[in-house]
Amino acid sequence: MGNVRIVGGGLAGCEAAWQAASLGVDVTIYEMRPVRPTAVHQTDRLAELVCSNSFRGDKLDNAVGLLKEEMRRLGSLVMRVADDVRVPAGAALAVDRHQFADRVTAAIEAHPRIRVERGEVTAIPASSPDHPVIVATGPLTSDALSADIAAFVGRDHLAFFDAISPIVLAESIDMSKVFRASRWNRSLRGKTEMSSEAISPEIASELISEGDYLNCPLTKDEYLAFHQAIVTAEKTEGHDIDNTKFFEGCLPIEVMAHRGVDTLRFGPMKPAGLDVPATGRWAYAIVQLRQDTLAGDHYSLVGFQTQMKWGEQARVLKMIPGLEHAEFVRFGMIHRNTYINGPTVLTDTWQTRTRPDLFFAGQVSGVEGYVESAASGLVAGWNAALLSLGRDPRPAPRTTAIGALAYYVSNADPTHYNPTNITFGIMPPLEAPSRSKSERQLATSTRALEALASWAGD
Ligand SMILES: Cc1cc2nc3c(=O)[nH]c(=O)nc-3n(C[C@H](O)[C@H](O)[C@H](O)COP(=O)(O)OP(=O)(O)OC[C@H]3O[C@@H](n4cnc5c(N)ncnc54)[C@H](O)[C@@H]3O)c2cc1C
Repeated sequence: MGNVRIVGGGLAGCEAAWQAASLGVDVTIYEMRPVRPTAVHQTDRLAELVCSNSFRGDKLDNAVGLLKEEMRRLGSLVMRVADDVRVPAGAALAVDRHQFADRVTAAIEAHPRIRVERGEVTAIPASSPDHPVIVATGPLTSDALSADIAAFVGRDHLAFFDAISPIVLAESIDMSKVFRASRWNRSLRGKTEMSSEAISPEIASELISEGDYLNCPLTKDEYLAFHQAIVTAEKTEGHDIDNTKFFEGCLPIEVMAHRGVDTLRFGPMKPAGLDVPATGRWAYAIVQLRQDTLAGDHYSLVGFQTQMKWGEQARVLKMIPGLEHAEFVRFGMIHRNTYINGPTVLTDTWQTRTRPDLFFAGQVSGVEGYVESAASGLVAGWNAALLSLGRDPRPAPRTTAIGALAYYVSNADPTHYNPTNITFGIMPPLEAPSRSKSERQLATSTRALEALASWAGD
C-alpha cells in the first residue's frame, strides 16, 4: 500500500491530502505551525487564510468561478467547506476565515487515513514511487527548506513581496457617512451611464438583490488630501518602494499613489457604479469595505494592501469618511512570496521533471491565490496517490481551468515567469468564438465542464 507525504498544511497541502486519502492512500502532513510560526499566520489551524477572506468570483462567466465549479465536481474539501461558511459578498465567494480554517482542520484530523505531524521540515524528504512527496509550503516557506529547494531546482527560486489590507471593527465605522451597495446596483435599473448589457444577467440579478459592501464616498478635496497623505506617509523600512517587485494584482496603495494622482481613483477607489444616496450621483472616489466574518463584526478595506507603518495607517486611513474613529483589528503589512520557476521544474501533473516522485503544489509551485493553490493541490494529491498505487499520473485536459493552470505553470516562458491567477486568457481559444464576450466565456466554461466530466469519468 502506498503512502503520500505532504510538507505544508495550507490550502494546497490539505486539499492534496484529502484527495490522496479519498483514493485509499495513507497520508502524512507535516505542518510547522505552531512549533515554528510564520511572519503572517496567526493560528495553529490548517488552511488558515492569511489575508483577504475572498475566494473571488463565483459564476461561470468568470475563470475563477469556473475553477471553483470544477473543484466542486472533483470532490474538493476546500470548496465544500468554503461553500458551507460563505458570507455575503455579491457575486463573489467570501468566507468566515475562522470557521473555514476550523472546519478544514477538523475534517483533516478526523480522516482515518490522514496523520498530521507538527514541526518544521528543513530539507525535501526522500521519496520513491510508492512513497511520493508533495512540497506545499506556500509563499512563506521556511528559510532552511527554501535553501534546500533552491539547491534542488538548481537555481535560486525568486523571492518578492506582496502586501495585505487592513481590517476594521464594524462597530467603529460611522454608518451615517457610509452607504451599503454593490457596484452597478443602480446602473442596472437604468440610472447611470453603464449599460446593463455589459454584465451577465446572472450577475446582474445577484447584484440587484444585494448590497454587500459598505462604501465610503470622498469629495475631490478629501481625495486629494488623502492621496497626499499616502504619498508622504512613512513606510516600513527595508524595502525600497521603487525596486521591490510586487505582484501586479496586489499592489500596495502607496505604490499606486506614487504612480499618479488618479491611479487610486481608477483602481481600488473607483467610484463608478456606486450612486451616493444623498446625491444620486457617483462620488469623486470611493473606499469599499467588505464583511470579513459571518457575524459581520469585521470589515476589510478592499484592495488596500499597504506597507505604511502601523501608526501611519491609523492616521491616514482615519481620513476616510466613516473611518474617523475606526478601530483596526489588523493592519496591512508587507510579506514575502517564495515560488519556484514552474516551467523549468514541473510537468503538467505537478511532478518535478528530474524526480517524478516529488511534486510541488500551491503558491510555492508558481500559482497565485487561494483557489489556484487549492486546485493545484487537488491534482497533485490525486496524482501522487495514483503513483503510489502503481498507476500513471494524469494531467487534467488543457480545456479545463484546472488543466490550463497546470499547463501554464509547466509551459510558460521560463525567462519571464510570473505566478498567475486563473484567467480565460490562459485557456485555449474556442474553435468558433461568439462576438459577445460573455457568451464566449460561458461557452469556454461549458466546454471545460464537459471535458472535465469525461476526464474524471475515465
Ligand atoms: C501576507 C499574504 C497575503 C496574501 N493574500 C492573499 C489574498 O488576499 N488572496 C489570495 O488568494 N492569496 C493571498 N496570498 C497568497 C496565499 O498565501 C496563497 O493564495 C495561499 O495561502 C497559498 O496556499 P498554500 O497552501 O500554497 O500556502 P499556505 O496556505 O501558506 O500553506 C503553507 C503551509 O506550509 C507551512 N510550512 C512552511 N514551511 C514549512 C516547513 N519547512 N515545514 C513544514 N511546514 C511548513 C506553513 O506554516 C503553512 O501552513 C497571500 C499570501 C501572503 C503571504
